[in-house]
Amino acid sequence: MTVKVRFAPSPTGRIHVGNVRTALMNYMFAKSHGGQFVLRIDDTDLERSTKEYEQGIKEDLTWLGLVWDETFNQSARFAQYEKAKEKLIADGLLYPCYETEDELDRKRKIQRAQGKPPVYDRAALSLTEADKAKYEAEGRKPHWRFKLSGGRIEWNDLVRGASHIETNSVSDPILIREDGSYLYTLPSVVDDIDAGITHIIRGEDHVTNSAAQIEIFHALGGPDAAPELGHHPLLVGADGEKLSKRLGSLSVQGLREEEAIEPLAILSVLAKVGTSDPVEVRPTVEALVTDFDLSKLSRTPARLDPADMRRLNARLLHDMRFDAVSDRLAAMGAKLDALAWEAIRPNLETLNDAKDWHVLIAGPVTPAIAEEDAEFLRAAAELLPADPLDAQSWSTWTSALKEQTGRKGKSLFMPLRQALTGQSHGPEMAVLLPLIGADRARRRLTGDVA
Ligand code: GLU
Repeated sequence: MTVKVRFAPSPTGRIHVGNVRTALMNYMFAKSHGGQFVLRIDDTDLERSTKEYEQGIKEDLTWLGLVWDETFNQSARFAQYEKAKEKLIADGLLYPCYETEDELDRKRKIQRAQGKPPVYDRAALSLTEADKAKYEAEGRKPHWRFKLSGGRIEWNDLVRGASHIETNSVSDPILIREDGSYLYTLPSVVDDIDAGITHIIRGEDHVTNSAAQIEIFHALGGPDAAPELGHHPLLVGADGEKLSKRLGSLSVQGLREEEAIEPLAILSVLAKVGTSDPVEVRPTVEALVTDFDLSKLSRTPARLDPADMRRLNARLLHDMRFDAVSDRLAAMGAKLDALAWEAIRPNLETLNDAKDWHVLIAGPVTPAIAEEDAEFLRAAAELLPADPLDAQSWSTWTSALKEQTGRKGKSLFMPLRQALTGQSHGPEMAVLLPLIGADRARRRLTGDVA
């Protein structure tokens, strides 16, 4: 059996960290089994779905490196859903109901008042043809419910282990609305059968759909038609609370464009949160796949700390080669060469910071000079060798200065750094000095903005 999984976003918005985690788990599961990863666009809701969002989702996944082997749109498959609908009706498993929202509400209230669970009473099953004709004559349109078996549905969940749902404790789910539009439940099953999906990996919020979907799989495809199911615990905030609106809406687009977080920092965090592995950065998606095992997933919610993303992002940048970033640096106006890149990268948290460090080299820098250091710095300017400076220049120069002025340690080095960069911390001065160059350095040492 070739493993085949799908990630099935609705193009009603851009994807956020929660979606990406589900996509990533599917991707890693597929790749770790030599299988295939399908991108299904769940756009049956024609009003809320847009091509722009679909395009955006594809862009985001591509940028992340989660490349799909196959993609299709549900909106192209209505004919298949109609066929499935007809089959279920013919088999007596899909029945029309005419209750309005208000009427259903009233029923639930009465049930609650009687201490009963608010499960749909199946009144529509006893409607005669004449009753239905009367409703239709009133202008009512039916919605359609799937008739659950009333039995116990069991499955061995890939994440949660032995699982079951008593179908007599849940309402027959509505599959088709009054206006004829499909809820996600039926199209998803039809597609999973037709695409040959072998495993469904999705969030725990879908567990309750599983009973109906397993029965629909059986109704449409026979007793072996249901794929294996895995429901992963959802992401929560670092404090264990439900993912706050701010965190929950952390979109890939925002992380990329506003926060300048690298794809592998996002993927590494999302692959590791809620597992028994430490949250550490991996250099490639393949490395994440190698580490991946569904059995490492904890059964408790996965805590997402956005600080982890910045921490892992910094790690990634510190090892990043110049040719991997040179285009982006140029695009942001940070004219750094390979040497300068190596000098500044240990100081970066995100690539955006490169701009600030670039200024240290090219200027303008406003030197920070304390009065008591002014004379020392003038001596330093005089002792500074001429261009070209090299990797040795800093130590030769500061040794000479030490000898001449008697200063050492912090009182020797800090005034130099502050004059040359305007700051008290930053990249290694030995690397920075040749990049700043003797001319600019001399001017900064004597208090010029340069
Ligand atoms: N479009 C559904 C969702 O995003 C897919 C759920 C599933 O994976 O079955 O919730």
